[in-house]
Amino acid sequence: MLDIERIRADFPILSRKVNGHPLVYFDNAATSQTPKQVIDCIVDYYQNYNANIHRGVHSLSQEATEAYEDARIALQKFFNAGKKEEIIFTAGTTHGINLVASGFASHINEGDEIMVSALEHHSNIVPWQMLCEKTGAKLRVIPMTEEGELDMNGFHTLLSNKTKLVFVNHVSNALGTINPIKEIIEQAHKVGAAVLVDGAQAAPHIQADVQALDVDFYVVSAHKMYGPTGVGMLYGKEKWLNKLPPYQGGGEMIEEVTFEKTSYAGLPHKFEAGTPNICGGIAFGCAINYLLDLGMDKIAEYEDKLLQYATKELLEIDGLKIYGTSKKKTAVISFNIEDLHPYDIGTIVDKLGIAVRTGHHCAQPIMDFYKIPGTIRASFSFYNTKKEIDTFLNAVKRAKIMLS
Ligand code: PMP
Repeated sequence: MLDIERIRADFPILSRKVNGHPLVYFDNAATSQTPKQVIDCIVDYYQNYNANIHRGVHSLSQEATEAYEDARIALQKFFNAGKKEEIIFTAGTTHGINLVASGFASHINEGDEIMVSALEHHSNIVPWQMLCEKTGAKLRVIPMTEEGELDMNGFHTLLSNKTKLVFVNHVSNALGTINPIKEIIEQAHKVGAAVLVDGAQAAPHIQADVQALDVDFYVVSAHKMYGPTGVGMLYGKEKWLNKLPPYQGGGEMIEEVTFEKTSYAGLPHKFEAGTPNICGGIAFGCAINYLLDLGMDKIAEYEDKLLQYATKELLEIDGLKIYGTSKKKTAVISFNIEDLHPYDIGTIVDKLGIAVRTGHHCAQPIMDFYKIPGTIRASFSFYNTKKEIDTFLNAVKRAKIMLS
């Protein structure tokens, strides 16, 4: 069992007050808080071995290179990638998706089809629309159901040998639904399509095994996994990363440069042009080790208890509707109360020290499906408690009375 009090002591921000009240942080799906182990790792880097990597013969550069490459290995192990060269450091999920979308421009032709799901974040929609515009390919959308799940019959109907790429998130950020990615990958591979899974929301809760899933690309952001902002990971199968052209040109990604011709470096450097977020990468590795020390199974078990409790208690509130009622969910609850505006409820609970997100959560098609402008989204982490949920329930009830 997780020792929540001890864990909370690792997160300095959790002891601050907001608007005179102890902070209750329920916006973990937007960004997670940072434990002192990761903060210390960032301070240690800048205080003791800040240097540019890969090129230096001096000791500091070698120390920084070693720490950065160790972080790559930590990511390789966490996601069970076959080779560390398949792990590309990015600036985050959005960067990883754009890297792949841009690379596929030379592999997609007019008449080809690209499939996304109705449950995607805008960052897993817009780059593919741009790719379709560039190539003349058609975008197909896997429909969703009232429960906020993917309509798998719809998926099977749309899948054909015209399908070249399928993009789907592992977990929906707006609803928390865990999507059947294994089945999607298996079926897509039968028609020869490659699959990119957006793991941004899944990674803090579910440890994906990229080899067991046989996924072609898997992308995540460190800031949702208790690491810093501005860094993320793209896992890509070696065969695909070798096929795709570099995303950006510059230093670090070359083997030899002349004005006549440049040859590119091998993996992973081909996709890591310029000085990377060195400290961010190292701190990401530290965050991964923090999660592994807690145990991903224990995290999922505890967060599910919070989800079940909060769901049951919220549904006691008259007129409250939860969007996304799948049995397979991470600890995210999206809801509205009658026709009260989510923003008004969010503002009132903020005055009581509670951080939740309101709006369309960068997933407007989901809101359009439910014919609503947005929801209030509470998303939990392993450092949250039942007592905090009680504080939240009281605040929501109070907001409802004030606004009705
Ligand atoms: N996909 C999903 C499912 C997300 O939740 C997010 C972040 N809200 C993103 C992509 C984009 O991540 P980032 O902004 O870190 O690039």
